[in-house]
Amino acid sequence: MSGKNKGFQGKDSFSRMNFLYQASMLMAGKSDTLSAYYGNLCKSIGKKSVLRIDPNIKRSLCKKCHMALKPGVTADVSAVDCKKEIFSIKCKKCNHSKNFPINLDYKFWLENPDSIAEVCSLEKEKLTKKRKKATVSKDAP
Ligand SMILES: [Zn+2]
Repeated sequence: MSGKNKGFQGKDSFSRMNFLYQASMLMAGKSDTLSAYYGNLCKSIGKKSVLRIDPNIKRSLCKKCHMALKPGVTADVSAVDCKKEIFSIKCKKCNHSKNFPINLDYKFWLENPDSIAEVCSLEKEKLTKKRKKATVSKDAP
């Protein structure tokens, strides 16, 4: 095995999905159609490259129109059943609502330490080497 860090699979797709999600959240409330377009692109890239979106991020996009759900801005949040502790989040654009139970003890599988198979980190040495090269090329005549 060589000493080079290969990164991880789907890194480009993850960074693109991250950008699109942030753009979708930024546009929510300003241009809902654009927000829904970016949200749809984000989901479809994840589907095509078979990557899992974090459940918290997935829940913040509407299932029907893919618009970013910001409570109070593009979505209404209300308690449906106080005894069973269920809240509802309703999209203001398409009126699609989804119910979620409030269970503070519940943890997603990804939050479980057993779910981590491998930890990948980006090399800092690569970045410093590139910076050194850049500074050298500036100084060179
Ligand atoms: Zn919607």
